[in-house]
Amino acid sequence: MAEQVDVVVVGMGPGGESAAAELARAGLVVVGVERRLVGGECPYYGCIPTKMMVRGSDALAEARRVADLAGTAEVTPDFAPVAQRIRGEATDDWDDQVAADRFTDAGGRLVRGEAVITGPGAVRVGDREFTVAKAIILNTGTEPAVPPITGLADTPFWTNRDAVAATEAPDSLIVLGGGAIGLEMAQAFSRFGTHVTVFEAADRLLALEEPESGELVEKVFREEGIAVHTGASVESVSHEDGRFAVTAGTVTVEADRLLVATGRRPNIRDLGLDTVGVDASGRSLDADEHLRVADGVYAIGDIVGKGAFTHMSMYQAAIVADHVLGKDNAGAEYHAVPRVTFTDPEVGAVGLTEQQARDQGLNVATSVSEIPSSSRGWIHKTGNEGFIKLVADTDKGVLVGATSAGPTGGEVLSMLTLAVHERTPIANLRRMIYAYPTFHRAVEDALSRL
Ligand SMILES: Cc1cc2nc3c(=O)[nH]c(=O)nc-3n(C[C@H](O)[C@H](O)[C@H](O)COP(=O)(O)OP(=O)(O)OC[C@H]3O[C@@H](n4cnc5c(N)ncnc54)[C@H](O)[C@@H]3O)c2cc1C
Repeated sequence: MAEQVDVVVVGMGPGGESAAAELARAGLVVVGVERRLVGGECPYYGCIPTKMMVRGSDALAEARRVADLAGTAEVTPDFAPVAQRIRGEATDDWDDQVAADRFTDAGGRLVRGEAVITGPGAVRVGDREFTVAKAIILNTGTEPAVPPITGLADTPFWTNRDAVAATEAPDSLIVLGGGAIGLEMAQAFSRFGTHVTVFEAADRLLALEEPESGELVEKVFREEGIAVHTGASVESVSHEDGRFAVTAGTVTVEADRLLVATGRRPNIRDLGLDTVGVDASGRSLDADEHLRVADGVYAIGDIVGKGAFTHMSMYQAAIVADHVLGKDNAGAEYHAVPRVTFTDPEVGAVGLTEQQARDQGLNVATSVSEIPSSSRGWIHKTGNEGFIKLVADTDKGVLVGATSAGPTGGEVLSMLTLAVHERTPIANLRRMIYAYPTFHRAVEDALSRL
């Protein structure tokens, strides 16, 4: 006999958990289905443990800068405190009881297992059937994508899930992939003493961001002793006597560990979406502004393809919850999506890159202001690399994109996100007062150069 419920949330990632709890608190009968850990990738394998690694590695980098600024400091890296924080503070040793209780305390019913849609308003989890009156909400996220490189599948490579569980920094590490995930871990392990080599098939790091961003990170990585191979398509991987060997063209590099960070595969193929008329053959699902993919079926998070970020998942969750509850909500807007790569320097960006703006046929003006030549950058001295880049739509007189790279680049991004989101006239941005001597004053300088 099928159980009658109002809502089934399939996958309890950050957005799924948030929408499920909000709808349960509103009095609906909500079932949340999770096959692994309530909370999803972010708290256990993604954002939080990796940022704990970054925090530790940044502390080491700052200590090493003491010599240039404030005397002497002896630095002996030890990965153990990071590993302990990840186990003790972030993941409870990969136990989701706290998150599960948070959901059931909100009034939801948690069902463990793998959910499949079996038709309109019908979901099956193992031998349990649910008839769903109001909404099926899909928040199934992604898995690490493993490229079809000769030999790779037969080796004990790491994905992000293994890397965050490391109890010590390896002696040497090869990272496949020069996107945010690979670069954050590359730099973090390197600062703990690991010899790191990065391979990226595209001709620059952070290929989805401004070219200046990848160039900056590559320069800093090289200065820190991280080997970077861009435009390097890896052809084969082998593993013998505990060592990996990775070959790209004429280059072969050996290391103790190999981290595959070459992208993510969306969990949409096996959800039974064909039974509700949804095409799941692409890289993401086609959702309307209220995140509906079919009548009574919503999707949120990475599988919607509007940015694989926790803040996107939460943003979309709030829209879906409003829509299910019949509250007024104008729907999702994606013109000011912020994202941050937590390398040092941090690379924050919002909206369109220059190339994306040109591809959209906009009349574009850009400007760049270098952080080291700003007052604050000059005072900061060592570790001051970075820049502000603005992308303006000259017809409308507004910013459509911006990059904020540098110390606290992700924080400086906030004012640029507001400007792009609110389509603030550039004339108004030029009239503002910018506190002296801050990193964000470089925004004022960049505006003066537009
Ligand atoms: C290493 C790394 C670092 C990251 N750092 C950041 C960061 O700093 N900032 C940021 O914003 N984002 C970051 N991200 C991305 C972020 O983790 C995701 O965008 C975020 O988790 C939101 O994903 P989601 O809501 O789509 O679902 P996910 O978090 O992927 O969760 C989906 C859940 O659905 C479950 N599931 C799947 N299929 C089924 C099924 N059929 N039945 C039941 N359950 C199912 C899965 O087990 C999983 O728990 C990082 C990701 C990684 C890998």
